[in-house]
Amino acid sequence: MDSLDDEALEQLQAEHEALLSFVYMSPVGIVRSDLAGRIDMMNPLASQLLMPLVGAHGIENIFESLTSVAPELRNLVESFTAGRGAICEHHRIFVTPAHERAVVLSCSIIKIGADLLMTVLTDVSRQVAAERRARQTESWLAAIYTNVKDFSFFTLDAQGRVESWNASVERVTGFSEADALGHTLARFYSPGQFPPHRSPEHLAFARDQGWHIEECWCETQRGERYWGQILVAVSREEDGEFSGYTVVLRDITERKITADNLQRLLTTDHLTGASSRAHFFEVAEAEIARAKRDGDALSLVMLDADHFKRINDTAGHLAGDEVLKRVVSEATQLLRPQDLFARLGGEEFVLMLSGADAQQAAQVAERLRAAVEAARVDTVAGEVRVTVSLGCVTLSESRATLQALLHAADQALYEAKSAGRNCVR
Ligand code: GH3
Ligand code: MG
Ligand code: MG
Repeated sequence: MDSLDDEALEQLQAEHEALLSFVYMSPVGIVRSDLAGRIDMMNPLASQLLMPLVGAHGIENIFESLTSVAPELRNLVESFTAGRGAICEHHRIFVTPAHERAVVLSCSIIKIGADLLMTVLTDVSRQVAAERRARQTESWLAAIYTNVKDFSFFTLDAQGRVESWNASVERVTGFSEADALGHTLARFYSPGQFPPHRSPEHLAFARDQGWHIEECWCETQRGERYWGQILVAVSREEDGEFSGYTVVLRDITERKITADNLQRLLTTDHLTGASSRAHFFEVAEAEIARAKRDGDALSLVMLDADHFKRINDTAGHLAGDEVLKRVVSEATQLLRPQDLFARLGGEEFVLMLSGADAQQAAQVAERLRAAVEAARVDTVAGEVRVTVSLGCVTLSESRATLQALLHAADQALYEAKSAGRNCVR
């Protein structure tokens, strides 16, 4: 061997060592085996990746090590007839079942000689998880955009201005991309619903707590009102930096109507539409406590239809019902919204007048008496007339509870009846 050959040999050895140390330190797992899978060399990362699969058996054969999770590898190799080349590339092996934190290996097998295979293994678990999340988000969004009719979904920039738009926004709000982009949430509110500062306030709550929900009347681009539920959640970059807001806007008008109906059913008398007895007791207790605390006046007026039995007997029960409804409608027209008119039972009603002293209560009672007396009630049995007797009472030291007030009002009513009916006491 001359000196040149020595030099070439030295260089070859150096290259070989460099290659070995590359294999050793490589960030991918590398396994060299024969066609049957018997391993004659592998780097530390390869044994680290395979170890969880083989347990106590040790790693001698690459295909055996992977047989529980990738039995197809042997077939792939056997059916590969060419002298050299890639048998498989980035073949995915699910080491643990495909749930959120699955361990997934990517496997490439290259035939580099008649009986020599190089297998390259990389851990792609994180990548697969990210892809999975992306797919999930994508299908979730697709479902929202295309299937859910009363949802819209968009984002706001850090200043609270609409920065993304999609078909769901137009479906719920009627606003096109050009109508919505760059506007604040106030764009969707019904005019006069919220003061203009409300939209930034909604966002401030969301920034404080991570998310915030408001419900309010909203209006579509065509001016149709709907009850909107607006959820605002803070969006952040991967490094946690605040980047804006994600908004889910829903039309929940139907739910609102159902809730309102339920509320009405629970608080009003079915026949007449007056407040129910239970609702009266609840509100009156609280109102009396408040009036006492604030030193405000408060009066009750008890009302009972006169000779009502006679009306039923002569005109019939249905006509009697019509008369009761009319008494309530006369009262409703006469009273302020804050006054409470409730049906205690039968043809007996009670009126709570917050802020009214004895004199004011007597005036209201007299007006109500006159209105009922003047009414000509159209019923199935023709025109019917009715009168009412009323007893007034005012909150005082000696009449300081609902019970005491009702008792006194009942007494006053009895006096009115005794005095000949159709009068106020
Ligand atoms: P008074 O002037 O003394 O109050 O005489 P009245 O006939 O009104 O008194 P009473 O309490 O004896 O009769 C009340 C009648 O009201 C008896 C009852 O059948 C009738 N009544 C109670 N609830 C209803 C109702 O929901 N509809 C109708 N049509 N009648 C009712
Ligand atoms: Mg009566
Ligand atoms: Mg009665």
